[in-house]
Amino acid sequence: MESCKILASSVLLICLAVLMVGQASAAALSIPVFPLSEEMRDLPIRVYWMDGVCAPEQRKIIKDGVNIALGVLAGGASVLAGEYPEGFAGFEFFRFMMISTAESAQIIVTDANIGTTGKTTLLSLGGRIVPPVRVELGCDLASIGIDAVVTIALHELGHALGLGHADFEEYNGVKELMYPVARQFMYPSTLDLYAIYLLVIKGYSGSSISLPEWLPYAQVSPQSLVYPEIAKERVAEEEAVAVAELEKRLNELSNKLSSLENKVISLEDDIQVIERRIGELEERVGALENSTLDLIRWANETEAALEMCFKDLSRLNESILQLSEALTGQSRYFDEKITELIMSLENLRGSLNEAHAKWSENFKTITERQNALEEKLRSQEERIQVLYERSRQMSSRMEELRLRISELEESLEERDLQIARLQSFGMILSIMLAATLAIAIAGLIQASRARKIGIAGGSGNDQQGVT
Ligand SMILES: [Zn+2]
Repeated sequence: MESCKILASSVLLICLAVLMVGQASAAALSIPVFPLSEEMRDLPIRVYWMDGVCAPEQRKIIKDGVNIALGVLAGGASVLAGEYPEGFAGFEFFRFMMISTAESAQIIVTDANIGTTGKTTLLSLGGRIVPPVRVELGCDLASIGIDAVVTIALHELGHALGLGHADFEEYNGVKELMYPVARQFMYPSTLDLYAIYLLVIKGYSGSSISLPEWLPYAQVSPQSLVYPEIAKERVAEEEAVAVAELEKRLNELSNKLSSLENKVISLEDDIQVIERRIGELEERVGALENSTLDLIRWANETEAALEMCFKDLSRLNESILQLSEALTGQSRYFDEKITELIMSLENLRGSLNEAHAKWSENFKTITERQNALEEKLRSQEERIQVLYERSRQMSSRMEELRLRISELEESLEERDLQIARLQSFGMILSIMLAATLAIAIAGLIQASRARKIGIAGGSGNDQQGVT
């Protein structure tokens, strides 16, 4: 795992760096590198932007800077592949692709609150960098400007692709991007891109890469190689070319001007022709005006006739309206009558139905009553029969009773005689009883006198006392 910081413009160096005094020789130009895993070398390299903590306006600048940096790296690869087809074979396929999810990203870039620095965090497995590499860019870079963001982003992306820090700041006036401190805007050098080429395209597994003799040391813009001294000559050449172009254009324009002058002359002729035609047209217009007056007269007459027609039409319309109203009234009257008739018929039918129902009901009641009466009659007849039977029984019984009464009367007479006999017998008996009683009483009285005399001879005292 490697972590590194780089400072922008005048900010002081923080991270470790070895500053070489003097200038290195071209043959000694080299850069330490970290080999990449197969996953990191997969093209196009997938980059995911993850929103960090910076203010939205800062984030926008940083994001733009990252996009420019990716374009600079890919453009530089394309330039080198064009300039050195043999030395950079296949480098034209070196491309980046922004993706919308972090999962499959090889590089994740984000904005972070780390001042004017950049920071790259690498994961290493078996001595090779594995995805995802995390690149952070400080919010304050946005305040310095887009150039600072692009430079720091290029430096950090160099780390993400396996580059270490270069130990020289510049060579032959060409600044080195991978030096730990950046002081101005820089493109990657031919050394940086050659190292990236070997690491990504060739799968280089060593720890340091040197610039080959056939490749001059220079910065690589997306359009061309930039040599500081040669660039000025190129500007002069380009200016000369531009002047020549301008002169050529001036000639062309003078030619055009003379052809235009010729055209103007021919146009004057045309104008005369047109003026003649205008005169003719004016005459025709006069004739047309006369025709128009005639037409207007005719139109007025027609209008008057039409007005009459309209009046007639409106009268006709009124008549039709009246007729239709009358018809409507008649039809309404008939409708009403028919409706009344229908209602009467309905009522009649209702009454008939009702009467029929009542009559049916009465008939039913009468039949029922008749049946009940017949039933009653039958039961009366039966009762009469029964009564008749009973009266017959009663009369025979009365006969029996009469016989019995006469028998009883006879027996009663006999009894009366018996009673009379018994009464006379009783009287005799009672007289006899009375006589018997009188005798008994007299006997009793004698007996009691006799007993009193016997007691008086036995004791004088008692006698005296008793007397
Ligand atoms: Zn660094």
